[in-house]
Amino acid sequence: MEQTLSIIKPDAVAKNVVGKILDRFESNGLRIAATKKVQLSKADAEAFYAVHAERPFFGELVDFMISGPVVVSVLEGEDAMAKNRDLMGATNPKEAAAGTIRADFAESIDANAVHGSDSLENAAIEIKFFFSDREIC
Ligand code: GDP
Repeated sequence: MEQTLSIIKPDAVAKNVVGKILDRFESNGLRIAATKKVQLSKADAEAFYAVHAERPFFGELVDFMISGPVVVSVLEGEDAMAKNRDLMGATNPKEAAAGTIRADFAESIDANAVHGSDSLENAAIEIKFFFSDREIC
């Protein structure tokens, strides 16, 4: 069983489609082992996205991620990391395959509805960033 971290980003939370996105996970064999709604601070977002600190869009990414609350979840299941990435679709929603979360709910490359860990190593780091052991069950 793998675990991965999902974030429903501020654009999707503001659109009131949290339940629809969580349903995509549950309907495709992923279990929600933990979930909560969080308002990130600037320091939180900068720390979470530290790997992108040198990218030209880092400032925009941080500003977007603190523009409203997010819903963070630990998803569990067989191949959970890759399965979540498949369900999300391409980073740019204009390139995302039909039926993916980003194709159906995202507007642009920055307001792209969801984040998902991109490796098992990062998943473990990102899960620890948001959740204590007792919150994951
Ligand atoms: P992901 O793993 O599919 O989320 O994509 P990346 O790890 O490459 O990028 C992280 C996040 O940075 C993306 O989900 C976008 O929100 C944002 N991002 C990526 N590329 C761009 C860009 O060219 N411009 C802006 N504004 N944001 C971007």
